[in-house]
Amino acid sequence: MLCGGQLMLTRVKTPAELKAMRQSGKLLATVLAHLKKRLTAEMTTKDLSDIAMVELKKLGGKPAFLGYQGFPDVICISLNDEVVHGIPSAKRVIKEGDIVSLDFGVNYQGMITDAAISLVVGEAQPAVKKLVRDTERSLLLGIQAIHGGVHVGDIGSAIEKELNKEHYGIVRDLVGHGVGHDLHEDPNIPNYGYPGMGIMLKTNMTIAIEPMATLGGHQVYVDEDGWTIKTQDGSWAAHFEHTVLILDAGAEILTTM
Ligand code: MG
Repeated sequence: MLCGGQLMLTRVKTPAELKAMRQSGKLLATVLAHLKKRLTAEMTTKDLSDIAMVELKKLGGKPAFLGYQGFPDVICISLNDEVVHGIPSAKRVIKEGDIVSLDFGVNYQGMITDAAISLVVGEAQPAVKKLVRDTERSLLLGIQAIHGGVHVGDIGSAIEKELNKEHYGIVRDLVGHGVGHDLHEDPNIPNYGYPGMGIMLKTNMTIAIEPMATLGGHQVYVDEDGWTIKTQDGSWAAHFEHTVLILDAGAEILTTM
């Protein structure tokens, strides 16, 4: 997002905005936990989307993805070689061994949070289970790198270092971002980088960090539906994301119960 050559950086949030974001993140985490409990083979991705819609409404939140740049659903559900932005469908049946990536956004009192989890359905290939575990760990290591004055490259480098240990493909065309008043705010937060490089982030800014790793290469393409991002080589992918608040020393995960 460029505006007159200036980045529209995510704002330093007020206490009232942070209160709304904590609640937004709590609702989001509650819905994802519910979906995790309900997920079984033979469901369709639309079944999961219906559950997400009902649960979020019960909790009093609004879906942040529905209608965003024309996205047609409340949640992105991506299977296997689909990395992100999959559109739920009543024709898409989930099978034992699949990776199911759920990416969800919640608006509560005008403040938005964004988070994702990848789940493995039943018994799966050991390499698939390991990919999912390692991708989640890389997210937590990225979060551990955060503090007031952190550079974007410090976060990306922590994630990249961890994923490189197993030679996973690190998706480069999609990145983390500022979040809060809008779903996507500056700066971009790539899942790779160099310590000390890139924009410096301040205490009380809020960002979404979201590593996407594959069992093959890093290259992706947009499917015919205009939304779903798939791996070029057909390798399977995992995606984890949290919205976090930058503190003087460390970070607070907002998308948690
Ligand atoms: Mg995101």
